[in-house]
Amino acid sequence: MRVAVFSAKDYDRRFLGAARPAGIDLDFLEHRLTARTAGLARGFDAVCVFVEDDVSAPVLDALAAGGIRLVVLRSAGYDNVDLAHAGVVGVTVARVPAYSPHAVAEHAVALILALNRHLCRAYNRVREYNFALTGLLGFDLHGRTVGVVGTGEIGTVFTRIMTGFGCRVLAHDIRVNPVCAELGAEYVDLDRLLADADIISLHCPLTQDTHHFLDSAALARTKPGVMVINTSRGGLLDTGAVVAALKKGRIGALGIDVYEEESALFFEDRSEHGAFDDDVFARLLTFPNVLVTGHQGFFTVDALTRIAEVTMANLSGFAAGTGPVHPVTLVG
Ligand code: NAD
Repeated sequence: MRVAVFSAKDYDRRFLGAARPAGIDLDFLEHRLTARTAGLARGFDAVCVFVEDDVSAPVLDALAAGGIRLVVLRSAGYDNVDLAHAGVVGVTVARVPAYSPHAVAEHAVALILALNRHLCRAYNRVREYNFALTGLLGFDLHGRTVGVVGTGEIGTVFTRIMTGFGCRVLAHDIRVNPVCAELGAEYVDLDRLLADADIISLHCPLTQDTHHFLDSAALARTKPGVMVINTSRGGLLDTGAVVAALKKGRIGALGIDVYEEESALFFEDRSEHGAFDDDVFARLLTFPNVLVTGHQGFFTVDALTRIAEVTMANLSGFAAGTGPVHPVTLVG
């Protein structure tokens, strides 16, 4: 089976290469998958893609015309795939559902701790021998209320960590997860979560229902000074409304690992280009109480190892005729 691996970085070569079984040949391509690059997959059996690759209907048409029968995602989220159209053109889609919920949950906690205790500011100050504490005031996490939206794999690990800090957890999901409830999370409606949470952390997928989940109306119902954390998908936040809420102090701190328009920015070194033409992103970076990381929540040795293993299992299952281990279908 010949697989074209799009958006391949050095770490993809390392981890996928190490997990590759006999009979699966990988061609690593640095290009992102787009309508323009889909032709590169002609003659391959499958493509392996990541979150910024475009697997929309026109791209699927081009892939199918070139002989592609399988798309394997090196990610859990699949909002970049037109699943209905994949079914129409006979392309199977597979993903890595739970490679390491710890990696992303721990990154969300890292954002909370760094923001709350102003670690970036403290780091820079101490390097200049400035030991003044003004501006570094934080709060105890113990006793604070954390709102968790989406209590699947990642939200549950996040809940476990936050209860370990002694936080009260309010959870909101379209279905109750008994594991989360057993950890002590109290399932509440969205209004109650918005009104009571000192910290809101988003762990639901990006869907039509969750697009701009936190918009100006929702943000107006939060506690003044709330900390908002998004390690899930950029589209969950209405970034314009978030900027307005930061200006008014409605949001007291923002930690994001994902951004609505990240596909034009993330995963590349753009420091040399100097063409910073995303004004909303540039505005976000002007706030001292905003911490942005470039979609690195998944980026641990453990997660990359697991992603590579499950990706190979998906490919092997398809090659063997039994189907990928983790197919993605329209119903889930
Ligand atoms: P999961 O499927 O295990 O859990 C998602 C939860 O969200 C489910 O419990 C589901 O019921 C809930 N949900 C769905 N729609 C909802 C709605 N409208 N309101 C409230 N809850 C809703 O997924 P997971 O493995 O926990 O991953 C969550 C998300 O994290 C992924 O969809 C992906 O976007 C993101 N993610 C980010 C990174 C990163 O590197 N930053 C890495 C992996 C995953």
